[in-house]
Amino acid sequence: MLQSSPPQESQWSPAVPAQRSSRDLAGPWHSEAACRRDEAGLFFAPSQEPTAARLSREQAAKAVCARCPVLLECREHALLQPEPYGVWGGLTAAERRVVLSRRRRREATSGSGSTRVA
Ligand code: SF4
Repeated sequence: MLQSSPPQESQWSPAVPAQRSSRDLAGPWHSEAACRRDEAGLFFAPSQEPTAARLSREQAAKAVCARCPVLLECREHALLQPEPYGVWGGLTAAERRVVLSRRRRREATSGSGSTRVA
């Protein structure tokens, strides 16, 4: 997701969400991100991306995430924001929605107010 520095909106494809703020990018984990050295385009879809290309791109992004030392921090950031687009912490936006849905169900059944569920 990142190239030589923490992600900036201008470094990403037009699909980058406008919600991404400088506060979002200030986390200490950003300096450790494996995607600082990788192709920024891997992590966000260009407009009208064919399904096969999206799946291939997402797999490539996930491969970068798999060797990232801050995967868990990144994933939690993306879940808590929540980040609606792109691959974050090895999860696509759809996968993050599933995780969030499971968390909400788990919290509802446990009565917990916690937002963090592994
Ligand atoms: S987990 Fe993936 S998206 Fe997150 S910082 Fe690491 S390489 Fe980038």
